[in-house]
Amino acid sequence: MNESTEQDNESATPAHFIQKIIEEDKKQGKHEGRVHTRFPPEPNGFLHIGHAKSICLNFGLAREFGGKCNLRFDDTNPIKEEQKYIDAIKQDVRWLGFEWDQPECYTSDYFEQLYNWAVQLIEQGDAYVDDQTADEIRETRGTLKEPGQDSPYRNREAEENLDLFARMRQGEFGSGEKVLRAKIDMASGNLNMRDPVLYRILKATHPRTGDTWSIYPMYDWAHGQSDSVEGITHSICTLEFEDHRPLYDWCLDKLGVFHPQQYEFARLQLSYTLLSKRVLIQLVNDGIVNGWDDPRMPTITGLKRRGYTPESIREFCERIGVAKANSTVDIALLEHCLREELNKTARRVMAVLNPLKLVITNFPEGKVDEFEVENNPEDETAGHRKVPFSREVYIEADDFKEDAPKKFFRLSPGKEVRLKSAYIVRCDEVIKNDAGDIVELHCTYDPETRGGANPKDGRKIKGTLQWVSAKHAIDGEVRLYDHLFTHETPWDSKIVPEPKDGINPESLTVLKNVKLEPSLASAKLGERFQFLRMGYFSVDPDSRPDALVFNRTVTLKDTWGKMVKKGKVG
Ligand code: ATP
Ligand code: MG
Repeated sequence: MNESTEQDNESATPAHFIQKIIEEDKKQGKHEGRVHTRFPPEPNGFLHIGHAKSICLNFGLAREFGGKCNLRFDDTNPIKEEQKYIDAIKQDVRWLGFEWDQPECYTSDYFEQLYNWAVQLIEQGDAYVDDQTADEIRETRGTLKEPGQDSPYRNREAEENLDLFARMRQGEFGSGEKVLRAKIDMASGNLNMRDPVLYRILKATHPRTGDTWSIYPMYDWAHGQSDSVEGITHSICTLEFEDHRPLYDWCLDKLGVFHPQQYEFARLQLSYTLLSKRVLIQLVNDGIVNGWDDPRMPTITGLKRRGYTPESIREFCERIGVAKANSTVDIALLEHCLREELNKTARRVMAVLNPLKLVITNFPEGKVDEFEVENNPEDETAGHRKVPFSREVYIEADDFKEDAPKKFFRLSPGKEVRLKSAYIVRCDEVIKNDAGDIVELHCTYDPETRGGANPKDGRKIKGTLQWVSAKHAIDGEVRLYDHLFTHETPWDSKIVPEPKDGINPESLTVLKNVKLEPSLASAKLGERFQFLRMGYFSVDPDSRPDALVFNRTVTLKDTWGKMVKKGKVG
């Protein structure tokens, strides 16, 4: 993935604004033509599909322009950050197909440097220790219409500030007793410039620096300076940091150090989905989903378990592009990218999710017929497999209706249907139990239609059903998924006040009596299949050789493709 390929250069996608900026910078010889980006996750949760957009952008630009991309853990809040998240993030970035410039970076590696730079600001008269409480600082910050008020501690002498700041570091004061603030302008039109807090006291053990520090830098102080230490040329973040850019620039200018340029792009917002680690953590902790890798989760690990491929996620990120204005992407586009890929790569098999037994009364008992069935009509190299057929087979219960409406081209009493690649059968009799439920169907088959041949008399058979021979069938479990949130815009608090209230009660359906064709006995973890007429499925990690479990990765229905055809979307 580090080499740019011919295909990239010939790609039909027009350049987005950041690509154009970098092209121009290279032309001007800015940073000696270097391109160095970074992906800076906070290790306080697992990555989600929104992060994938940022990963594809940052690592993609480095690859495209022959540059480097760092993976930097923004580990400045020890209360929320954990090693398990660091490990998971590394794994997910690699799974997506990217490798960072070695070694991985940590903001905590720069704590000493950041401290020394803060001392520099104090010496220059650009920062001061404030004794006000967090509430007092908030209350005196002012509003967009009114300026803020100067802190009574704002004009402390540098010497006193240096002494207090050193003692903050030593752990002499309690959490929240003092902060270090930049001395900028309490009347600034930009609230971020009204003497922002640079350091706070936090008595917490850090996963990497242990108890060395009693003070931790705020995002606005840590981020730009970390970019500078690493020699980042293009620091790309999401739009909500646009108003922080003047502060980013102010810090670097005051220090007089290498100055990367910050650019902002629109974060991904996906319909029926919430992309916020805070919310995702809540769903995990409250047991609303079964962990970070629940296949309904928009996390990278959840998508992976569901059966998504890295290629389809990268393709999705490519298609949504990079823009400067926020918008919502239809989740159907993500599904479409996956379906397009699986259509080309997934082996076709037969499975019956809700079985109904069909007895073929004129087929000899004990006889086994075998059919050569094509593994993938989209891929000639995929070959064929043998599928056994016998007197009793299962079909999908939904494929039979006693009182069939006119255009029901499946099975009903007296009607014929084709069993895929096998024979045409006619339903002669419906067998019910005492409660009146259908327990099996008695049918007769037409031997002349073997292997999918057409009837000699020219009669037309419209429907084709998948089936599984009863005595050869493997039992399995299938998990069907629907959107995790019922509403299209679950981030809209007028519609969904609390994320947990917006959960789709039908987001998971477990079917335990599934009949699978025998070739699936060798299915391996993560392997993907198209179950004919039922969708794309992949083997779940819960699966055991004697108890197979499949996730429905995506249905066959292509709502996105239909919308494109109707001209509703591009
Ligand atoms: P969340 O809001 O989910 O907690 P975050 O921005 O706090 O996300 P970080 O770990 O700080 O999470 O994000 C790492 C990088 O990923 C940042 O550069 C951030 O801008 C980017 N990122 C996060 N969410 C999205 C998104 N939905 N679309 C695009 N980029 C995103
Ligand atoms: Mg963040």
